[in-house]
Amino acid sequence: MSEETYVYSFEEGDGKNKQLLGGKGANLCEMTQIGLPVPPGFVITTSACREFYHQKKKLPDGLMEQVDKAMADLEKKTGKRFGDPENPLLVSVRSGAAMSMPGMMDTILNLGLNDQSVQGLAKLTNNERFAYDAYRRLLQLFGKVGLRVEDEHFDRVFDAEKDRMGVAQDSDLDAESLKRICKEFKKIIKEKTGGKFPDEPREQLRIAVEAVFASWMGKRAVDYRRQFHITPEMANGTAVNICTMVFGNMGEDSGTGVGFTRNPGTGENRLYGEYLMNAQGEDVVAGVRTPQPLKELRAHMPEVYRELEELRHTLETYYREVQDFEFTIEKGKLYCLQTRTGKMNAWALIRTSNDLVNEGLISEEEAILRIPPAMLEQLLHRRVNPNYDGVPLASGLAASPGAASGKIVFTADRAERLGRMGERVILVREETKPEDIHGFFAAQAILTSRGGRTSHAAVVARGMGKPCVSGCEELLIDSTIGEMRVGDLLLREGDIITIDGTGGHVYQGEVPLVDPEFVEDLLTLLEWADEYARIRVWANADTPEAALKAREYGARGIGLCRTERMFNQPERLPIMRELILAETTEERRKAINQLLPFQLEDFKSIFRIMDGLPVTVRLLDPPLHEFLPTSEELLFEINQLKSFSNSIGAIENLPYTMRILGKSLEEYIPAVETAVGEIEKIRLKKPDAELWKSKEELLQRVKNLSEVNPMLGHRGVRLGISYPEIYEMQIRAIMEAAAEVVKEGVKLQPEIMVPQVCTLQELLWVHKIVREVHDEVQAKHGVDVHMKFGTMIEVVRACMRAGRLAELAEFFSFGTNDLTQATFSFSREDAENKFLPLYKENEILQDNPFEILDVKGVGRLMMITIEWGRRTRKDLVVGICGEQAGHPAAIEFCHDIGVDHVSCSPPRVPIARLAAAHAALKQGSRMPMV
Ligand code: ADP
Ligand code: MG
Ligand code: MG
Repeated sequence: MSEETYVYSFEEGDGKNKQLLGGKGANLCEMTQIGLPVPPGFVITTSACREFYHQKKKLPDGLMEQVDKAMADLEKKTGKRFGDPENPLLVSVRSGAAMSMPGMMDTILNLGLNDQSVQGLAKLTNNERFAYDAYRRLLQLFGKVGLRVEDEHFDRVFDAEKDRMGVAQDSDLDAESLKRICKEFKKIIKEKTGGKFPDEPREQLRIAVEAVFASWMGKRAVDYRRQFHITPEMANGTAVNICTMVFGNMGEDSGTGVGFTRNPGTGENRLYGEYLMNAQGEDVVAGVRTPQPLKELRAHMPEVYRELEELRHTLETYYREVQDFEFTIEKGKLYCLQTRTGKMNAWALIRTSNDLVNEGLISEEEAILRIPPAMLEQLLHRRVNPNYDGVPLASGLAASPGAASGKIVFTADRAERLGRMGERVILVREETKPEDIHGFFAAQAILTSRGGRTSHAAVVARGMGKPCVSGCEELLIDSTIGEMRVGDLLLREGDIITIDGTGGHVYQGEVPLVDPEFVEDLLTLLEWADEYARIRVWANADTPEAALKAREYGARGIGLCRTERMFNQPERLPIMRELILAETTEERRKAINQLLPFQLEDFKSIFRIMDGLPVTVRLLDPPLHEFLPTSEELLFEINQLKSFSNSIGAIENLPYTMRILGKSLEEYIPAVETAVGEIEKIRLKKPDAELWKSKEELLQRVKNLSEVNPMLGHRGVRLGISYPEIYEMQIRAIMEAAAEVVKEGVKLQPEIMVPQVCTLQELLWVHKIVREVHDEVQAKHGVDVHMKFGTMIEVVRACMRAGRLAELAEFFSFGTNDLTQATFSFSREDAENKFLPLYKENEILQDNPFEILDVKGVGRLMMITIEWGRRTRKDLVVGICGEQAGHPAAIEFCHDIGVDHVSCSPPRVPIARLAAAHAALKQGSRMPMV
């Protein structure tokens, strides 16, 4: 029986097979095979790891024999021997799964040393300090990873020795100190494990391999996979990479560092990174000393720098992607120890996408696909000027993107008070609670010292689109005395700070910010995206300003123009109220005729802005009471008026009361009587009578209009049919405006959309008005106005009657907010406030269906609707205009079921355009819809 191959040398491993070799291992193989200077080594497969767990944490049979063979091979290549007391072969034992999980699993360096070979190494290199530095690192890492001794025990010894020698940096410790440390480390291992550090290198290796496998199921790694939704299909088990050691700690001609082939913050096409001389492994990342920027290496070691430049070009040409790599310099010689795709922010991704296409390295399709659409969100906010190079005061989690400066306040109440006075404030708390919400409204940004990306502060800030840094643990915040400490620095209320929620940083004082801008590179990229996309992106826009934004962001039309917003403006609301309070058709017409010119102007300016593109206007939708004050507000005002008249009565009685009270008040009475005379004059004027009456009437009307379930009540087309004058006025305003701008030469396609329709009869009813007004206006102006008539689909019955509705409707637009409510029978507010969080927590529902389109239920209804609708009308145009429409997953789904366009808020248009291209380009790799 031939046993499974668990071990592949870097020369033979298949660099494309990350599932088997892990990302790090696969890339080490590839780099070796394209001739990059990788120290010799081999990979133990993830399959061995799975087998390890299968056999209750025992290494699979035959594995160690295969490892022995591979080690013998390494010995041949390096001319050293594993365990040789004079010239020992040392290796690192490194983890690495198919998905990168930075810092989640463990690595051991310098494996193969023991009390004898450390002396051999010292002699051989003529560098005792180096040998014991390597040894102490092995003891600590092996102790920690292989034997589970906590780091702090080692750190304590190490720091004590530094103190004793009066040195600040690890590299200043001499050989004697390091020797003492090694001795202490071995003692700690003995104390903490009861066993002893294994001198035998093969034993070290076995334990190390087991430990790396075990770290796959360590708490840190398991939590990480859960947090980032890494499923077994994505990564199943870790590989182990055994790699010949190269030494960055051999003196001042040696060092270690990390590099990016381009700047991951700006995308600039230049080598970027940091390095430390005389250091090994994680020193750069761990921050034991402050590393130097890589550009300084050019002066320090020009030859090595040139090699790094070469490395960068080779890596990019081969991987056709920006790389993040690790390197070590051993006595002036460069080695590459790892490479992977560089993580970049949105700006860098966009810039490099363009550059890589221009350099001929990738295609337009690849340039589009390497940017996750949701990342463009970063571009929608203000941010710290990328050229600013100040050092942050502290850093935490980038909980909500954007940047803002302001004065520190420590309580929500203070935030509100100062905010009202026009101050720009930053709410700083240890953590926030629901009762701080008023502070969020008043603040420019939020900063907390505790809590993660899903903490209250983070979630609420994101919901409001305010920058937030959470979990900034370096801050010591005491809100009771109003102080915040960072190291030695003390900050108080009123001190200015800047929050960078995109990067997760806090700066002292005001830092230069830049507005969100559309860089040229993004525009190019989005143009490419439009070429590949099938589904088009429209915008929801109710006002001329929003229409301008929509155009600027590249929307191909307005998919939803809500007319109710137009009535909510201060000078129109009173007329709207008159309309609602009108008792007769006559009175209603009077109010409506006052509203018409406003609507006309609104439509004209929107139509002009959208010249050449379709504009979908939705007729009035919300229930009328939304335009009136609430009965609580009215009752409050009526009570105020009541107490006014009561007070007057009380004052008029005052002189009598004073007389009863006796002589002591007598001298004041004349003055009071004079005052009472004045007050009587006020009463006779009855200043409150009119108002009181009208408020009482209004209250009555509000009570009449009040509904048990307003969202399921008298609204949409139901309202239009009850008060035909309103829809007629709106239709007239649209037609007249269209006719007028057509005469100006504007190319226009108004589309009239009826909300809340559930039967063809409703559509017929509105359509009749549309036809009449259309004819009338065309005749009056002597121009042709091309228009379309259609319906929203937001009622389940409308889905079921799609075939009939399409007889009249030239287009459908899914209003997925209402359709989701109707499909689930959830009222959104109640659901989100009461039980949706619980449902998510218990995984009864994966997502909030009001944010993420519910493909399985609502989506299914959409599919049926489209199919039936197009059976009646082949060229039925289908759009979606709910809040979910701007999300990449919804766009993908809409692409698959044949929706023609999605309509989202203007700032989301770029995200949607990119997502539309992704949907088209990735179509082949998706599971077919069933
Ligand atoms: P991580 O995945 O946490 O980066 P690595 O396995 O890449 O862990 O290793 C940790 C550190 O040790 C890195 O800086 C790496 O470059 C360094 N390192 C790993 N193997 C060797 C080796 N054979 N020689 C020198 N340095 C090494
Ligand atoms: Mg690494
Ligand atoms: Mg609706």
